[in-house]
Amino acid sequence: MSAPISVDVVIFGGGIAGLWTLARRRQAGYSTILLERGALGGVHTIAAQGIIHGGAKYALTGTLSDATQAIGDMPQRWRNCLTGEGELDLRRVRVLSQYQHLWSTKGLGSRMTGFFASKLMRSRMAAVEGLDRPELFQNSAFSGSVYRLEEPVLDVPSLAAELVRQQGDACFAIQPERIQFDPEHPGCLKIRSPADSFTLQAQQLVLAAGAGNEALLKQLGRKTPQMQRRPLHMLMARGPLPQLYAHCLGASANPRLTITSYPLAGDEVVWHLGGQVAESGVARDEREHIAAGKAELAALLPWLDLKDVRWATRRIDRAEIATSGGKRPDSWHVDSDQGVITTWPTKLAFAPCLATDVLHCLEQDGIKPNNGDSTALVDLSYPPLAQPPWDEVKIWN
Ligand SMILES: Cc1cc2nc3c(=O)[nH]c(=O)nc-3n(C[C@H](O)[C@H](O)[C@H](O)COP(=O)(O)OP(=O)(O)OC[C@H]3O[C@@H](n4cnc5c(N)ncnc54)[C@H](O)[C@@H]3O)c2cc1C
Repeated sequence: MSAPISVDVVIFGGGIAGLWTLARRRQAGYSTILLERGALGGVHTIAAQGIIHGGAKYALTGTLSDATQAIGDMPQRWRNCLTGEGELDLRRVRVLSQYQHLWSTKGLGSRMTGFFASKLMRSRMAAVEGLDRPELFQNSAFSGSVYRLEEPVLDVPSLAAELVRQQGDACFAIQPERIQFDPEHPGCLKIRSPADSFTLQAQQLVLAAGAGNEALLKQLGRKTPQMQRRPLHMLMARGPLPQLYAHCLGASANPRLTITSYPLAGDEVVWHLGGQVAESGVARDEREHIAAGKAELAALLPWLDLKDVRWATRRIDRAEIATSGGKRPDSWHVDSDQGVITTWPTKLAFAPCLATDVLHCLEQDGIKPNNGDSTALVDLSYPPLAQPPWDEVKIWN
């Protein structure tokens, strides 16, 4: 058995929560390593649509909820990073669109919701007309309204790749069964690596493992905090599609449809279809869900040619702090309890807030940077980079 390795912080999970936290901890001088059981870029992160929400989606109920207030600053905070003036330098990350759009159809319910949203969100959205509209809504068959939201949409695979380029030297692959936890001393991890065994001694653990937090908490003998899962059945459409980044307003508090696009090689584009259609799709099998997706596009964008478009679906459960009634949490979650900080961002957009709160927890717990950089001593391999969901599809229908 090799000599123990001491670090200040060990983070579990290499999605957006873990990678952002790792970057901020190392900036602050804490020697920090990240352990990932799968691929860097995470499970939910790599599946995200990349929208840096500014709250419009959350104002569709007609009231300014806590979620709307908390998320309002996120686009600017991310834009600062994207221009190299923020807490992280994300100048190499590709921005797919500087704006997200909202459109309403001529149905009454949808018009009403659009009205409430525009009144509430006046400073964050503006009606767009004529040639300022995305090309799809310049079609003469379209008779609804279009608003522009100050919400950028990021290329998530490029975001993951850039964070890994900057922080990958401190990220290590681990199979959970190779770690032995001691609930009495959470910072003391016994690790069996393929070549050796060693003890990793940390001042603090940060759980940023998304859905994996549940099992980690159990291994640490903790009953709280509790996690909830909210299932989604996402749709992907691939073919000669225009690039569109837009929510379609429905009569409910959730967008009827949220479309984001990812340009592939050649003229092909993948559309990610989320929103209400992905929530209600949980009850449908793949064939039914694709049929529902086609019907939704035919109803909302009847002039769009879907002849050469192929489809796939993907089920994924969002993992978040448990709320009463299983509702969507209003913001990110960070709590510190005897050597363990547990986090869920709720939204990719909230990762900067989550990482700041983790730093506050360390300071409040009196944890000071005091171990040199020991990443070179860790005898584990580097994890691979996560593949985007469209690259994982075996058959497009
Ligand atoms: C379909 C979809 C679309 C979304 N779109 C958006 C959007 O447009 N905008 C937005 O703001 N948010 C969006 N979200 C929400 C956002 O993706 C998540 O809130 C965020 O990515 C969660 O990040 P995370 O780091 O907590 O989790 P993850 O990205 O899942 O990362 C957790 C990591 O922990 C690892 N792990 C698990 N267990 C262990 C263990 N025991 N040891 C070590 N590692 C472990 C996993 O392998 C994984 O890599 C979307 C979510 C979904 C599902």
